[in-house]
Amino acid sequence: MPAENAPRALGAFSGGLDGIVAAVLLAEQGVEVALATFSSPFFDPDRGREAAARLGMDWRELDFTDDMMRLLESPPSGFGRRMNPCIDCHAAMLARLGSVMADERFDFVFTGEVLGQRPMSQGLNSLNRVARLSGLGDRILRPLSARLLPPTAPERNGLIDRARMLAISGRGRREQIEFARARGLSFPLPSGGCLLTDPGYSARLKVLVSEGLLTAGNARLARVGRMIRLGRGSVGIVGRDEAENAMLESLAAPSDILRLADRPGPSAVIIGGREGIPLLASAVALYGRVPEGEEAGVETGRDGSVAVRPLPRNVADALLVRNDESRRT
Ligand code: SF4
Repeated sequence: MPAENAPRALGAFSGGLDGIVAAVLLAEQGVEVALATFSSPFFDPDRGREAAARLGMDWRELDFTDDMMRLLESPPSGFGRRMNPCIDCHAAMLARLGSVMADERFDFVFTGEVLGQRPMSQGLNSLNRVARLSGLGDRILRPLSARLLPPTAPERNGLIDRARMLAISGRGRREQIEFARARGLSFPLPSGGCLLTDPGYSARLKVLVSEGLLTAGNARLARVGRMIRLGRGSVGIVGRDEAENAMLESLAAPSDILRLADRPGPSAVIIGGREGIPLLASAVALYGRVPEGEEAGVETGRDGSVAVRPLPRNVADALLVRNDESRRT
């Protein structure tokens, strides 16, 4: 239990190994630690919630959806390799923590970032840029690399003993794993986490942006199934198995759902202009294995139903949104 007048710190926490080490390192110094995990259509808070519960630490979820939607339209510092606006995303997350810090009288903010672990977003220049953009400056402590970085306000003010911070840099995780094992801490394997770095998802999101269809709801739909282009301002998503069909049906308005009228098959969702419905209905017939040349009825939400023949496979393949293999600079 921290002392009554212990320093109070609020950490950005995804539930990964680095964040766990940072939080425990501070708690071992007597800091009262609270953890915050961000949620959006692109990353879930579950891992953070579960890890915080295992640590027995105060935890909260911060909905970051609006910030992400704004950043995806036009990130001031640009995108990473995919649709990931990491520099501005980090800065906006820290700014958000900064406002919670001010409201709830925390003394400083911390992260599990490691100098040089991700060359683009965790190099020294990027860490400095994020600190400046967030408005927090030297009130951000990065306990895993603190001894390699200039002293921060909590270190200078004596809230934190800098000598007990770590001096980790680079991509290896050996020191973090040793730290966790020595204390019997469980930790998850590294995982992708953010969908914005995923080539397939990134490609689908780009299509939503280019067709003027980017909303939080559509970004959630794009997590599921295969996406096909239906024409200007109109795309469709078709489930690939029962779980995806159920997911699409739970996320979309009933009026936007297409399915075969008289036989089992995939569920599909129309996004944007409804003039794309006949094409999408033909894709539903194709993926629903309606024999070539045969006609099938497809329910089309509020429009009733249409009779279509399955889309030729080569046409469907040409309309399918594939992985984004582009490199941004
Ligand atoms: S990987 Fe995703 S969540 Fe992480 S900083 Fe980049 S955009 Fe934000």
